[in-house]
Amino acid sequence: MKIMRIGPAGAERPAALVRDDQYVDLSDVVEDFDETFFGSGGLDRIEAIVADRAAAGQALSLEGKRIGSPIARPHQIICVGLNYADHAAESGLPVPDEPILFTKSPNTLVGPYDDVRIPRGSTKPDWEVELGIVIGKRTSYLESVDDARKHIAGWVLVNDVSERAFQMERGGQWLKGKSAETFNPAGPWLVTDDEIDDVRDLGMWLDVNGVRRQTGSTSTMIFDPYFLVHYISQFMILEPGDLINTGTPPGVGLGFTPPIWLQPGDEVTLGIDGLGTQRQTVVAPR
Ligand code: ZN
Repeated sequence: MKIMRIGPAGAERPAALVRDDQYVDLSDVVEDFDETFFGSGGLDRIEAIVADRAAAGQALSLEGKRIGSPIARPHQIICVGLNYADHAAESGLPVPDEPILFTKSPNTLVGPYDDVRIPRGSTKPDWEVELGIVIGKRTSYLESVDDARKHIAGWVLVNDVSERAFQMERGGQWLKGKSAETFNPAGPWLVTDDEIDDVRDLGMWLDVNGVRRQTGSTSTMIFDPYFLVHYISQFMILEPGDLINTGTPPGVGLGFTPPIWLQPGDEVTLGIDGLGTQRQTVVAPR
C-alpha cells in the first residue's frame, strides 16, 4: 500500500494511491496519518477499505492536486550522520564505529514538490537524498535487530536539506544546519514494507538542474535500517509516526572541489527505487 496526504499545506487529507495517477480519499475513515493512526493499527484497518474503494470506481485523479508529506508532523525526526562509507570519505570524516545521531526539527516536513527556502544568513545550502523509516508502533529497548521489522510502518523518500555553515561552523551540534523551514521534503508516498523486496538494495539518485549529483544504493549503508531502529531504541523511545532519516550516499555539494551550493532558482529532483520521485525549486530567504 502507498499512503499519501493531498491538499493545501496544513489541510491535507489522508488518501492512498491506487494507480499511477489516481488515489482514493480516506478522510472519512482516518483523521490523519499521525501517531494515533499508526499506533492503533491504522494501516491494517484501511487496507480492505482502499481495495474496496478502488474496485468500486471511487478513484480520483491526482492531476493539479498538491501532495503533502505522507505523514503528519511527527513527535520527532531523528537523523543518522555519515551512514555511507563513501559519503564519510567525501566529507573528510572517519567512518563511525557507532551510528551518529542528531535531531531535526519536526516542523521542517513539507511535501515532495514544495519549494525549499534558503534560510536567512545562509551561505552553504546543500542536498541529501535519503531513505526515511516511519515507525509503526511505540519502540523501546528492542531485544534484537529482527524485532525491528515489526516496528516499522514503511519507507519514504526524503531530502535531508542541510546548511553546512550552520551545521559545522557555528558551534555545537548539527541541529542548526538541519532545522530551517522546508528542510525536509518527504514523499510522495509512504510505502508499506510488503511492497518493497529488499529495502537494503534500492538505487537512489539526485539531480540539480538536470545534472546528476548523487548516485548510490542503500546496499552501501554502514548500519542498515533494522539495525538503526534497534540501536536507537536503546537510547530513546520512538513513537508511532516518528521519522528516521538514514543518511545520504556520496555526491552532496560539500563533497565537490570546489563545493557546490544551492542557489535560488535551482531545481532539485531525486528518487529511490519503489519510493517515487521528488522535485523542489530552491527559493530565496524570506
Ligand atoms: Zn542526512
